[in-house]
Amino acid sequence: RPVVVWFRNDLRLADNPALTAAVKTGAPVIAVYIYDENAAYAPGAASCWWLHESLKALQSAMAKLGMTLILRRGGEAKIVRAIVQETEAAAVFWNRRYSAPQVEIDKNLKNELSNGDVSVKTFNASLLREPWEIETGSGTPYRVFTPFWKKLKEFGPNRVSPLPAPKKLQSEKLIESEDLTSWNLQPDNPNWAKKISAHWSPGEFTAINTLDNFLENAIDAYGDGRDRPDKELTSRLSPHLHFGEISPNQIWQSVQHGMNAGNFSEAAGYKFLSEIAWREFSYSLLYYNPSISEKPLRPEFAGYPWRDDPNGLGLWQRGQTGYPIVDAGMRQLWRTGWMHNRVRMIVASFLIKDLLIPWQHGAAWFWDTLVDADVANNSASWQWVAGSGADASPYFRIFNPITQGEKFDPKGDYVRKFVPELKNLPDKFIHAPWKAPEAVLAKAGVTLGNNYNNPIVDHAHARNRALAGYSEIKGR
Ligand code: FAD
Repeated sequence: RPVVVWFRNDLRLADNPALTAAVKTGAPVIAVYIYDENAAYAPGAASCWWLHESLKALQSAMAKLGMTLILRRGGEAKIVRAIVQETEAAAVFWNRRYSAPQVEIDKNLKNELSNGDVSVKTFNASLLREPWEIETGSGTPYRVFTPFWKKLKEFGPNRVSPLPAPKKLQSEKLIESEDLTSWNLQPDNPNWAKKISAHWSPGEFTAINTLDNFLENAIDAYGDGRDRPDKELTSRLSPHLHFGEISPNQIWQSVQHGMNAGNFSEAAGYKFLSEIAWREFSYSLLYYNPSISEKPLRPEFAGYPWRDDPNGLGLWQRGQTGYPIVDAGMRQLWRTGWMHNRVRMIVASFLIKDLLIPWQHGAAWFWDTLVDADVANNSASWQWVAGSGADASPYFRIFNPITQGEKFDPKGDYVRKFVPELKNLPDKFIHAPWKAPEAVLAKAGVTLGNNYNNPIVDHAHARNRALAGYSEIKGR
């Protein structure tokens, strides 16, 4: 009897414990991917584009090993049940998920199948350590990052070395698969994904290459460089990690190897691994706080006096706030499906604290437009900026979009790339065009209120308004 491997956000062959275990049984392996557009946290539009490409890459990697990835669309539990029946499978293997609705589906299915004569085995493929493996001395989850990271560093990843990809896969009993294109994951009219696709190449092969390139060329400068949106000094592994085209375990091992070989400094290596640890921390927060994507972790924030401002939200989404660094970030997101981390913090702070729009609106927009949209990282990061999360940035830390721009995009290269209407402005005014004398604006071809907006709020005024809102809820 065959073994079914249910693929989810683990779209890779190497270091995939569920797949490895299935191959090891010696039984025929049936690999399945299920797409449920009605599931909780179903991918947004940009992620759907990525998912299509990633599944295509996995299909062709499997085909080289003589195997088909079976695609089915619909309710997950129902489909797994049907496939088990159809193939008379003896076992179903999968790698674990961490959001409450997904944990619930998996738990119920496991109970149900195990009560029949189907064995279910589950594995960890997405995290260095399971959330319940990294706990405080008193057995509670960490709410503060630094001790969490200290413990994770001490433990290291849960596998000594990544598992090799199987050399041969065999599916004895072919069952019907749906056609990937029939899922309509990709836009056609208009094909907005054309712009995004110029920047990315989904799949396991590119994920590994991206890591190797980063370790070879950029990691030494990562410490300070990671805050510079005008340079390409971060790994851009986030969508690959989200879809599980590469595991944090593989990353850990490669970084460890590079440090041991003296290819880059330990400081650089551990700085990078600490960011991978932020991802682990977010997953722990999601696992122990299932409502993190909807509700503030600090309950007093539920009473914050937010504003209802659809016009402001629209201008923020389109990158027309009149603050160049904010607009550049929002346009980078729209054009490439990704935004630099420093700029994510700036645009999030602007939405939450300058416009007083609830962070959930920003998180929803990111969900639809990011190729790396990830419920753990997105929710935890928005709450971090909002001040309502665990170990969050204090509320009164309100990013000033002008000084942030001047500090992290000092020559304005990033702004010029994404806000071309400002490209001829001198560096001095690139982050605050409204401060430029008329003659300078005219020479640069900028007419405020015409081809570039005036600031939609005055930052100093907005800052005071946000702090006043905070004093209403403080101490509640
Ligand atoms: P690198 O700097 O090369 O880091 C390597 C990896 O570490 C990343 O790929 C990511 O998996 C992880 N990582 C890095 N920074 C963080 C962080 N602050 N929190 C959690 N994990 C981190 N990241 C997502 O993957 N998906 C999201 O939906 C997401 N939404 C965000 C929303 C906001 C408001 C903010 C401020 C941050 C968000 N992040 C999100 C975190 C971070 O911005 C991205 O992970 C990072 O920019 C991805 O680029 P990179 O792969 O080049 O990162």
